[in-house]
Amino acid sequence: MRDKEKSEAFYDDVKKKFQEERDLRLAYRPEGTAQYTSDFTGDLAGYAVDPFLKQQDVRAPLNDYSEVLFIGGGFAALLTSVRLLQKGVSDIRIVERGADVGGAWYWNRYPGIACDVLSYDYLPLLDEIEYIPARNYSSGKEILNHCQTIARKYGLYEKAVFNTTVTETVWNEEEQLWQLGTDRSDSMRARFVICANGTLSQPKLSRIAGMGTFQGHSFHSSRWDYEYTGQELENLKDKVVGVIGTGASAVQIVPAVARAAKELYVFQRTPSSIDIRAEQDTDPDWADSLQAGWQAERRQQAIELSNMSLFQRMSTAQDVNSVDYFDKAKAAMENDAHADIPREEKIRELEKANIDYMMGIHRHIDEVVEDRKTADALKPWYMFMCKRPCFSNDYLPSFNRPNVHLVDTHGKGITRIAPEGPEYGGKIHRLDLLIYATGFEIQKTGTYNRIVGEAGLDLNQKYASGVRTLFGVHTHGFPNLFIMGGLQASYQFNLTDMLQTQGDHISECISHVKQNGYSTITPRPESEENWVQQVIKHRGKTSYNEECTPGYYNFEGASMRRQDGNYNGTFSRYFQYLKEAEADMGGSFSFT
Ligand code: NDP
Repeated sequence: MRDKEKSEAFYDDVKKKFQEERDLRLAYRPEGTAQYTSDFTGDLAGYAVDPFLKQQDVRAPLNDYSEVLFIGGGFAALLTSVRLLQKGVSDIRIVERGADVGGAWYWNRYPGIACDVLSYDYLPLLDEIEYIPARNYSSGKEILNHCQTIARKYGLYEKAVFNTTVTETVWNEEEQLWQLGTDRSDSMRARFVICANGTLSQPKLSRIAGMGTFQGHSFHSSRWDYEYTGQELENLKDKVVGVIGTGASAVQIVPAVARAAKELYVFQRTPSSIDIRAEQDTDPDWADSLQAGWQAERRQQAIELSNMSLFQRMSTAQDVNSVDYFDKAKAAMENDAHADIPREEKIRELEKANIDYMMGIHRHIDEVVEDRKTADALKPWYMFMCKRPCFSNDYLPSFNRPNVHLVDTHGKGITRIAPEGPEYGGKIHRLDLLIYATGFEIQKTGTYNRIVGEAGLDLNQKYASGVRTLFGVHTHGFPNLFIMGGLQASYQFNLTDMLQTQGDHISECISHVKQNGYSTITPRPESEENWVQQVIKHRGKTSYNEECTPGYYNFEGASMRRQDGNYNGTFSRYFQYLKEAEADMGGSFSFT
C-alpha cells in the first residue's frame, strides 16, 4: 500500500538514485549493444554447439518446392501451421536449426527452467489439443512436450527438416517464388516464407577480455551441458561454479546450482527485481469446470484488458502476480478518463506507485536475505519494468547458503577472465565451471539470414535507414514474406498471444491470395508509411525508456530511431488493425 507519510522529496530522492545508477552503467558501457557478441566462430565456436543433438542426421541436400516455408520451428511456426492446416493449406515445410521443434524451449533446458506467464495463457492451442497444464506456471519440460504434442497431432514432424539453418532467402522475380539456401546445401523453393525464428533466439556473450583463455569448462545458459553437470547436477558436488548474469535465466539457474555445487559465485552487474512466485497445481475442480473454447475466451479477455493507453506497459504486471501494483496502475489509468487531471500529474502518480512497488521489492529482500551487505547489493534501483521482472521463491534464499557468494560488481560487470576464472576487484575467482547467463539478441527475427527481395534489395539494407513494415509483419518489396515477432509489431509479456495474433493474420493473408487466384501479396507503400508513422507516434509519448537503466528492453540505453522499436499502442488496437486489414485486404495490400 502507498505509504501516505512519504513526502514528495522521498520520491524525488529515489528517482535521483535511479538516475545515478543508470548513468553509472551507461558510463561503463558507452558501446551499448556492441558490448555483446553473437558471432560464435573461432574461439567462441564451442558456445554454438547443440548439446541436445544426439546424432547428426545424414541426408542428401534437398531441391524441392513447398507452398509455405517456415524459418524456425518454435511456437510461431507451430501455431501458424495449425491455422494454415485448418484453412486447407497443407503443403508446409518447417526448417529448424535444432534437432526438434520447440525453439526457445528446445534450447533452454537449464535446471529450474519454467515460464513466468500463466500456463493457461502461455501454452497455445490448449482448446485444440484439449490439454490443461499441470500447474499454473509450466516447467520448460511441459512446454517442450506441448510443442512436440502439437507437432505430432498435426503431422508437422513429417513437414520439418531439422539441424538445418537457412542462410539466404532470395526472391526469384521470374518464377515469383522464394529461393532458399541452407547450411546443408539445400536449394528449397517456396511461394510464401514465414520468418518464425524467434525474438530471443540467438544467444549472446558479453565480450570479456581473456574469455578464450579460461581453462575450466564453460557454456551459455541456452546450451546446458548435462554431460558435464550430470542430469541431476550430481557431478557438481565437488565443483566450484560461477554464473555471469542475474537476469531471468540466472534467477532460475542459481537455486538449482546452489543446492548441487560445492561453491557457487554469482557475478552480478545489475540485480533483477524478484517478486514472489505464486505457484500452484492446477485445481482439478476448476479444470473440470472448463467448457470447450475456454482458452479462446480467456485470450479475448486479455486482448480487451490490454486496452490501457498510457498505462499499457504497466498492465503486464497483472500477468505476473503484481496485483497490488497493477491495481494502482489501473486506478491511475481510470483517472485517464478524467480530462481535468493534467497528464503530468497522472504520470507522477504512476511513478510513485512504481517506486512504492520497487521499495516493496527491497523490503522483501531485507526480510529474506540474512547478510545485510548481500541484501543491499541485491536491491534493484530502477523503475519496475525497466528490466524484465523475475519471480522466484528460491533465488533470494540461495544467498543465505554458506556455499553461495554474490560478487557484486555494482554496474561494472566482469571485464576480464583469467585462465583460472573471472577477475573482479583485483581478485581472481577460481572456477571449474563458468555459466554465461548473458542473454540473447533481441528481435532480429527476419534479418538473420540474407533476405533479398524485389530488384535485389537486401532487407538489412532497406532497414539501414529505419525499419519499415506494415504491422511488423509485411514489408514492401518483399512479396509473400511474413515476419513474426519482429520490430514494429506489438509487444506482449505473453509472447504467444502476439504470435497467435500474427499467425492468424498471416493465415488469413495466405488463404486470401489462394482463394482469389493471386500469386503474391505485398503491402501498399502508403500503408507501410502509415504504419511507420503509427509506430513513431506511439514511441514518442514518454521518456520512460531513456530514463531506464540499460538492458535489452531499451537497447542498452541507446537513443534509437523512433521507428526502430515496437508498436507501443495497445495490443487490443494492434489486434484491431490486423482485423481491419483482413476485412479490406485491398486497402492495405496489392496483389498480383
Ligand atoms: P538477460 O539479457 O535478461 O540478462 C543478461 C544478464 O547478464 C544481465 O543480468 C546482465 O547484466 C548480465 N551481464 C552481461 N554481461 C555481463 C558481465 N560482463 N558481467 C556481469 N554480468 C553481465 O538474459 P536472460 O537469459 O536472463 O533472459 C533473457 C530473456 O529470456 C528474459 O528477459 C525473458 O524474456 C526470457 N526468459 C524467460 C524466462 C521465464 O519466463 N521464466 C526464463 C529465462 C529467460 P545487466 O543487467 O547489467 O545488463
